Amino acid sequence: MSETGMQTCPVCGVKILNAVGGDKVLFSSGPPGTRAALWAKVCQYTQKAGCINKDKDAIGEVKSTDYYQPNP
Ligand SMILES: [Zn+2]
Repeated sequence: MSETGMQTCPVCGVKILNAVGGDKVLFSSGPPGTRAALWAKVCQYTQKAGCINKDKDAIGEVKSTDYYQPNP
């Protein structure tokens, strides 16, 4: 494990910034989100080993707003 404060999921290609009060996920487009949002939008579909966002304790509670919302 690196201690740089920034991790990149090698499977999803998304950057996770370790921050006080909760990690921030930097998506390739759109505003930053949470690990829960990353899981809901990307990682739950990624059934490959090596994804760094599969730890339920780190992800926390996934809310309905974390899932992909099509623009109205
Ligand atoms: Zn991932």
